[in-house]
Amino acid sequence: MNRTYLIKPVLDYDYPTAVYGEGIYLYDHTGKQYIDGSSGAVTASIGHRVKEVVEAMIAQANQVSFTYRSQFTNEPAEKLAKKLSEWAPGDLNWSFFVNSGSEATETAMKIAIQYWQERGYGRKNKVLSRWMSYHGITLGALSMSGHVLRRKRFIPLLEDFPSASPPYCYRCPFNSTYPGCNLMCAKELETAIKRIGAENIAAFIAEPIIGASGGAVTPPDGYYQEIKAICERNEILFIADEVMTGIGRTGKRFAVEHWGVVPDLIALGKGMSAGYTPIAATLVSDRVMEPILRGSKAIMAGHTYSANPQSAAVSLAVLEYIEKHRLVEAAAEQGQYLMEKLQQLANMFEMVGDVRGKGLLLGMEFVADRLLKTPFHPETDVTNRIVARAFEKGLLVYPAAGGIDGAGDAVLIAPPLVIQKAEIDRLVSILEDTIREVESELRSEGWT
Ligand code: PMP
Repeated sequence: MNRTYLIKPVLDYDYPTAVYGEGIYLYDHTGKQYIDGSSGAVTASIGHRVKEVVEAMIAQANQVSFTYRSQFTNEPAEKLAKKLSEWAPGDLNWSFFVNSGSEATETAMKIAIQYWQERGYGRKNKVLSRWMSYHGITLGALSMSGHVLRRKRFIPLLEDFPSASPPYCYRCPFNSTYPGCNLMCAKELETAIKRIGAENIAAFIAEPIIGASGGAVTPPDGYYQEIKAICERNEILFIADEVMTGIGRTGKRFAVEHWGVVPDLIALGKGMSAGYTPIAATLVSDRVMEPILRGSKAIMAGHTYSANPQSAAVSLAVLEYIEKHRLVEAAAEQGQYLMEKLQQLANMFEMVGDVRGKGLLLGMEFVADRLLKTPFHPETDVTNRIVARAFEKGLLVYPAAGGIDGAGDAVLIAPPLVIQKAEIDRLVSILEDTIREVESELRSEGWT
């Protein structure tokens, strides 16, 4: 291995160097082409090297790239905040800009706590969440995350915020089935609130569709309506973590729109700039801003790069591109086509247990026994085998394993929203070859 100075995810692995991108394709230093079947980490939603975004970047750099938020406001950030208020449901009319999804969820948590303080309820400072969720890697965001493997090393530093089961119908935590289950997973939130005391709780946070740690785990109809009602009844704010699901990915501008629910705060990231520059946001409703505007008149959060004009100009260009090319509608339409194709794969292969998701955020879960839904032994390393074999064949899919208790195998298939049907056919055909090869490898190792 060549001497390297960069700390990469796996230190003893030789990563290919990415040198070029175009639409749904990436190319490495050897000229090998990859279909970006996961938009990186569900980020590059409008594809690579989009001319309009590159031009917006240059135009802004030719004016001013950086101004500091407590000295100036700037036009791109003002316009972006206005655009997001037009996109967002209900009265989510305010934006606070940060640089990553982790900062967006952590800022949402802090604003929720501040909201209650301004109203004179200083004890309301816990933020409940669900097992299996992922809200980010910084300590506040990790405290809210229910992803067992990511929490493990830092447990002494974390709050025990995860307190409800995920709406994971494929493996119902209550061994029940929808709709007979009467949405027990949602009702469990109310039990947790009673135990902890609503007077100690500022908010509940959830990913509308569980992405990175579940493989597009999608709740049944009625779940979010029930969650919202529970939050309202107990005077607890509802934060939707739309870092992965937001900005058109699921075939709606925001995934909560699938269930007609309006959260009090929304965290955004990833698709907001489609990967062109780091920018993320916490959207805040008029209702939550009101006591803050009357009270301390400032949000106690922020970063040096918050609302910097360069990233704001890029994000604005991305949102305009999505509007112009009707990519939210495209995600719904192409997503349905991709879903049908993935379901065909599920019928072909024993190891595919479940296919799920919405729009172009789809997940596939792998199992050792389809009838019993038995997971593979973790040492079989099925997720990584699928990801690596697909990579070899020039297809990127995202590992989304580590579900409810750190076990389980799943991948996300989430290509750029610009993908066309012929490209979906190619993606699915590589995935089919990948699964076929991994299945026969597993059989040769004794799996039946
Ligand atoms: N929330 C969700 C739902 C995510 O999927 C992620 C990233 N996978 C994050 C938060 C954290 O975002 P970032 O990696 O940009 O900090």
